[in-house]
Amino acid sequence: MKSYIVGNWKLNFTVGEASIYLHKLQKKIPNYRDVEVIVAPSALALQTLSLQIDRHKMKLAAQNAYHRDYGAFTGEISFSQLRGIADYCIIGHSERRYIFREDDKVIQKKVEAAVRNKITPILCVGETESERAFGETADVIRDQVIGGLAEVSEEDIDKVIIAYEPVWAISSTKSAKLAAPDEIAEVVKLIRKILKDAYGEKTAENVPILFGGSVNPSNAGAYLTVPGVNGLLVGGSSLILTEFADIIEVAKRVKS
Ligand code: PEP
Repeated sequence: MKSYIVGNWKLNFTVGEASIYLHKLQKKIPNYRDVEVIVAPSALALQTLSLQIDRHKMKLAAQNAYHRDYGAFTGEISFSQLRGIADYCIIGHSERRYIFREDDKVIQKKVEAAVRNKITPILCVGETESERAFGETADVIRDQVIGGLAEVSEEDIDKVIIAYEPVWAISSTKSAKLAAPDEIAEVVKLIRKILKDAYGEKTAENVPILFGGSVNPSNAGAYLTVPGVNGLLVGGSSLILTEFADIIEVAKRVKS
């Protein structure tokens, strides 16, 4: 399986800044066949970047979209509008869950709409600091994985990516801590078991599982070698071009 390195730019960069970043990154990195590089700019920059991106080198992800294809939904963009522009969409990021109050029902509809529109959902799951402290990690992960994938059929499950992002390890979280590789391995194993129970052994192995939470060039290698981890979702460090390029380089090295 390929490695996936996803840069989530969140609400950062103007369209011009995003365009310059992409231009420089494309010049800096070669075409790595076994590392899929994905950047997720703001929705406003997607169209511009889709016209300049070298799709052999990298792909675009949206950070969010609405589950209905069209209609009276002021302010939203749909997965059908993203077709031909973005290949991936981040869904269920903890900032969407906790700031914008998206629950598993909402997330499930978005995952279904993404798959229906041939956009690969990157479904984020992860426990908060207090859920972890109360020993609820496994239950939270199970609810979020089963809830998020409820509308995905056996036929489509290999068109989904899951990102395990413990909320307490995300760099913008007050008191963020680094997740230990052992702890990540345990949760990733649990996610594979949930997938296996729902979709069968073979299919479960084909679903890429990424890790996200304060990833940077110095810890990327350790996280990429956690058993069962197929890539990284990077927030803060992806805003610094040299750091993001270094993480891609580490992924290439780990792969070979
Ligand atoms: C994220 O918010 O998805 C994330 C992983 O952020 P950071 O890398 O900054 O912790």
